[in-house]
Amino acid sequence: MAGDLVLELFIPDEEKALNIFRCIRWADGVYCPECKSFDIYKRGFTDNKKVRRYSCNNCGKNFTDFTGTIFANKHLPLGEMFYIIANQDKKSTNRLSEELGHKWESVYRISNEFKECLAEKSKDPVLSGEINIDEMYQSAGNKGLKKTSTNKKAQIKKNRHL
Ligand SMILES: [Zn+2]
Repeated sequence: MAGDLVLELFIPDEEKALNIFRCIRWADGVYCPECKSFDIYKRGFTDNKKVRRYSCNNCGKNFTDFTGTIFANKHLPLGEMFYIIANQDKKSTNRLSEELGHKWESVYRISNEFKECLAEKSKDPVLSGEINIDEMYQSAGNKGLKKTSTNKKAQIKKNRHL
């Protein structure tokens, strides 16, 4: 079928897709998603014989190539998930599920989780983590005046917006 041929051209071979994924995810070497230790060892492959399993010598946790990513616990081949992500703005979820022969829900889940992941990454990074408020300036002339408490609050508010 012509449709199948088009898909074969655009969906990366599973082994290639996994190699690409590993190159990106483990660019600095495989590390434990739990404790970030590089002291890990390979434990063969998962049931589909392609995704690698690892164990951490530091904290003892087991993990795979996909642990902690949107690709974890999905039943679709990685190449098809790449295809969905690459085409989610061009094609409807209905069309993608028809093309790939997967349930609408499966396609929607991947597409939606990827969008959520992008949104999470692009959240305002300036206000994350600890916020330091600069030292306040207080004029010596105001010492002892009750007004200072409201001045402080106003000053703190002002600094937060900087
Ligand atoms: Zn660990």
